Amino acid sequence: MPVDKHVGETLRRSDKQLYEIIESIFPTAPSSAGYHRGLPEALAHTDAEVYRLIEAEHNRLQNTLQLIAAENQCSRAVLAALGSVVQNKTTEGFVGSRFHGGCEVVDSLETLAVTRAKAAFGAKYANVQPHSGTGANQIVLTAILESGDRILSLAMDQGGHVSHGAGVAFAGRFFEVEQYRVDPKSFLLDYEAIRQQALRFRPKLIICGASAYSRTIDFAAYRRIADEVGAYLMADISHISGLIAAGVHPSPVDDAHFTTTSTYKPGGPRGGLILMGRDFDAPIQAGGRSMPLWERIEKTTFPGFQGTPYLNNIAAKAVFFREMLSAEYKARQFRIVENARSLAKAFDRLGYDILTGGTDNHMFCINVGRFREGLTGAIAQHCLEECGIIVNMNRLPYDPHSPRVTSGMRLGTPIVTKNGMGPMQMEAIAGLVDAVLTKVEPTGGREYRLDDRLRLETKCQVQDLCARFPMV
Ligand SMILES: *Cc1c(COP(=O)(O)O)cnc(C)c1O
Repeated sequence: MPVDKHVGETLRRSDKQLYEIIESIFPTAPSSAGYHRGLPEALAHTDAEVYRLIEAEHNRLQNTLQLIAAENQCSRAVLAALGSVVQNKTTEGFVGSRFHGGCEVVDSLETLAVTRAKAAFGAKYANVQPHSGTGANQIVLTAILESGDRILSLAMDQGGHVSHGAGVAFAGRFFEVEQYRVDPKSFLLDYEAIRQQALRFRPKLIICGASAYSRTIDFAAYRRIADEVGAYLMADISHISGLIAAGVHPSPVDDAHFTTTSTYKPGGPRGGLILMGRDFDAPIQAGGRSMPLWERIEKTTFPGFQGTPYLNNIAAKAVFFREMLSAEYKARQFRIVENARSLAKAFDRLGYDILTGGTDNHMFCINVGRFREGLTGAIAQHCLEECGIIVNMNRLPYDPHSPRVTSGMRLGTPIVTKNGMGPMQMEAIAGLVDAVLTKVEPTGGREYRLDDRLRLETKCQVQDLCARFPMV
């Protein structure tokens, strides 16, 4: 950067003391280019403590198996956009009606993110501003409901999400929520039972979508129920939005009035997204006048719910939505499902009880309590973690255990697939998990004994496997 170099040189001559202070902060060059580039080095120099912890997290991710179904691994390009100077821009409102000057560049970024999101999901409207998946849900609820209005949603212990109406959270506190359950034998969604419940309860909003459901969701069936009872339908596709964008799972974008998702689960930056299809400009009465649904969503996003948009996240979302449109991304979504099926089959052959018998998506749950007497989800999670295998305990439908103990373990394949693993490695992973779960000695709901040698051996095998599939 000749200009920056020149400025630096002038400063060095005119004010040596100031120059040295700036140089100590930006050792590469006391220039705006030094501010803009070389970010990790800048951090290493100015805050070794945090830098070391970030390095430690990188080592942990590289040397352990990431099997949490809610996690993914974004690209370097997404990371770069997240850690960019765009973070410094403050504004409010949407493109075309901002409340601060200097928005020409971020307007282009947000427009690009919106255009790409619409293309990736075949949507008529996209709102890229929600700070999270939970925030996206809260915006939709706030936009169309008055406090005390009725919501029908899948219960959390049945695979639903806490933001769909659990008593401890926003939706559960300010609305009247009734929850539906999966069939107690098959653990599948029972659309006729949901219909009967909707006919009786008369909700203003029906929520579908889940955090722990391994089978295809029939969004069209939900819409028929919503239409029959005169309710809005919101589809929360946080877990499966990548599969939907790739065509591996049917899309709700035209069936639901609102489709929401977190953006990190399909492999982008943290954040939320609201999509609308054919109902995007259906009228709604709000504040004494009629407006299209999309406008109501924007007015609720700001000033109704959030303050400033996280424009660096929006830049990163733009990068990610372009990735979603690539052949590589689409092909990977198919491999994620193939790997989940291989992993489930391998566990099935080893005698494990897979909920619903298998999977149509990226994840599945195992009832570990039925594999061995005394084994719980908490024990499975903790003893596997000691061996470098990262999973999460999960409450299963009709689970006799508390949320801190649970009978279930949830496994997902997005990250191992991103790093290039295939069906053969899924067999190996099931073998490693099985070696630990057959030997661990439960001594309570969350307590156990694990042989030191087994722990060390498994940890080494996990490291070897991970070393062959470095993070990409
Ligand atoms: C993870 C998840 C969310 C929450 O997304 P955050 O960005 O973590 O707030 C919402 N809904 C469902 C179904 C999820 O699985």
